[in-house]
Amino acid sequence: MKKFTGVPVSKGIAIGKAFLFLDADFPEISRFHIESGQIDEEWARFLAAVDEAKEDVKSLRGLQKSVVDEGDDILNAHLLMLEDVEFHERIKKRLERNLQNIESAVWDVGHEFYQKLTTSPAPYLRERAMDITDITRQILNILLDIKKRSLAGLTEDVIVVTRELPPSEAVAMNKRHVKALVMDAGSQTSHTAILAKAFEIPAVFGLSTITKEAAQGDTLIVDGDTGAVIIKPTAKKIEKYHGIIAKASEKKDEQNALRDLPAETMDGRRVILNANIEFPEEVEQALRYGAEGIGLYRSEFLFLNAGHAEEEEQFRAYAYVLKAMEGKPVTVRTVDVGGDKILPNFRTVEEKNPLLGLRAIRFSLAHPELFKVQLRAILRASVFGVVKIMFPMISGLAELEAALSMLEDAKKECRKKGQAFSSHIEVGSMIEIPAAAVIADILAEKSEFFSLGTNDLVQYSLAIDRNNEQVGYLSQPFHPAVIRLIKRTIDEAHSAGIKAAMCGELAGDPKSTTVLLGLGLDEFSMSASQIPLVKQIVRKANVEKCRALAKKILVCKTVKDVEMMMKEEGGQS
Ligand code: PEP
Ligand code: MG
Repeated sequence: MKKFTGVPVSKGIAIGKAFLFLDADFPEISRFHIESGQIDEEWARFLAAVDEAKEDVKSLRGLQKSVVDEGDDILNAHLLMLEDVEFHERIKKRLERNLQNIESAVWDVGHEFYQKLTTSPAPYLRERAMDITDITRQILNILLDIKKRSLAGLTEDVIVVTRELPPSEAVAMNKRHVKALVMDAGSQTSHTAILAKAFEIPAVFGLSTITKEAAQGDTLIVDGDTGAVIIKPTAKKIEKYHGIIAKASEKKDEQNALRDLPAETMDGRRVILNANIEFPEEVEQALRYGAEGIGLYRSEFLFLNAGHAEEEEQFRAYAYVLKAMEGKPVTVRTVDVGGDKILPNFRTVEEKNPLLGLRAIRFSLAHPELFKVQLRAILRASVFGVVKIMFPMISGLAELEAALSMLEDAKKECRKKGQAFSSHIEVGSMIEIPAAAVIADILAEKSEFFSLGTNDLVQYSLAIDRNNEQVGYLSQPFHPAVIRLIKRTIDEAHSAGIKAAMCGELAGDPKSTTVLLGLGLDEFSMSASQIPLVKQIVRKANVEKCRALAKKILVCKTVKDVEMMMKEEGGQS
C-alpha cells in the first residue's frame, strides 16, 4: 500500500481499478541487452504487438468510417506502415546484431524513420513522420501493456490516471464509467477540475508522479475531500473508507434537506446562492441542489467539441436553460475561449503565452461576426426567462464599451429581422484581471453587476498559471492582495448601487463563506453540489460577526495569518 497526497479538486470518494490513460505521451522505455537465446521470444512479442495494433486500427477504422474519410486515409496509412517490410527488417537486425531488448529496438527504428521522413524534401513523406510516431507509440504501448483506449469508449468502471487531461478530452469521456480522476498536473481551478465537479466525479490533481506510481489495474482509493490517493490499499483501509462513504452520504441527506430554505444568516442577511454550469443539461442538477439561478453559464463549452456553434444551436441551448430555470435568472457568460480552451478552427497563430493572449472578450472583439452571432442568440432566447449577459476578462473601460456597442449592434440586427427580445437585460463585467478590480469604480459606471472570477483573479494577481502544478502551492485565494482586490470590487459595486457576485471556485469553498459574507458579497455562484454545504454555513452565520472577522483578515500580512484567523474566528461567525 502506498499513499499520496495531491490537491483535492472534486469531492467524493471512489474505490476502483486504475486505468492509465497516457495516450498522448511517448512511453518511457528501458534499455538492456538480451541473450541470443531470447531473440526469437522478443521477435514473437513484436509480431504479436503488431498484430494487436493492426486489429486496433481496423476497429477504429470501422468506428470512423461513417464520420470522416480523411481519418480513414490516415488509418490505412497506419496499417501499411505496421506491415512495412523495411520497418520489420531493421528492427529484427537490431535484435540480432545489437542484442537490444525489443522495446528499445522499436523505439530506435521508429526514431530513425521519423528523422528520415521529417527531413525529406517531399511534403507527402514529411506528413508521414507523424504517422510513424503514432504507430511506434502504439506498438510500444502494447509491448509495455499500457492500455491505449479513448476515454469516450470506456465500457467498464475505472479510475482514470493521467498526466494532464485537456478539457476537450474531459468533455468527451464516458462519464458513467469514470468513477474518479487523478492527474499528475492540474490545480483546483483548472478547467478540467471544474468539469470534474460539474460531472460529480471525485478528483485529485497535482500528484506529480501518480502515472509512474500506479500500474494498470491497481486498486485505488481516491479521496476527493482530502486529496489522498492510496494505491493497493489493504482490506482494512478499504473497509475504513466504506465507513467514510456511508457517513458522507448521511451528511449529504442532512444538507439536501435545506434545499428549499433561504440562504439567510441568523441575523437576517439574505444572500443568493447560484450554480455554475458548463452544459445545458446541468440545470436539472442545479435545481436539485436548490440553486436560485445560474450565476455563470460557461457558454464556450458549446463550441469546444466542434469548434463552432451556429446561431440556431446556441439559441436552442440558451432557450433550454432559460425555460428549465422557470424565471430564475441565468447569467450567460459570452465565450471565454483561448487559454487552455482552444477552438480548433481558430488556432490561427501559435501563442507563446496563451493565458495572456487572445482570450475571452479579446477573442470575441477580434471576431465580431462570431460575437454578434452569440449575442443575437442570447437576445432571442431572452424571451424565455430572465437572462443576464456577462463579459469575461474585461481589463478596461474601452473594452467594456466596445462589447456593449456590439450588443447594441446585435439588438439592431434583431429588430431589423423582427426578432423579439426582452426589453431589459442586465449586463455585467467579470472582475478577474487585477486591473479591473483596481478600476472597479470606473467599470461600475457601465456595468449593471460585477461577478468576481477569482480563478483568474488569483492567477493574474499572483502570476501563477492555474494549470501548472509546480506553482500550484502559490495559488492562494486567501493571499492578502487577493482579499484586498475582492474587497475593493465589492465596495465599489455597492458605492455604485450595483450587486457584487462571485463565480470563481472561492465562492463555493466553505472555508471562505463567512469571510465573503463579512466582505458584503451579495451573490455566490458555484458548482451545484457545493450549494447545500455553503447554505448550511450561511444559515448558521451571524453577519455582524462575519464583518468583524473580515476586518481582522484585512489587516493580516500573510496567507498563514489569514488562515489562522479564519480557523480561530471562523467557527464563531
Ligand atoms: C474565474 O476565472 O474565476 C471564472 C469563473 O472563470 P473561468 O474559471 O471559466 O476562467
Ligand atoms: Mg475566468
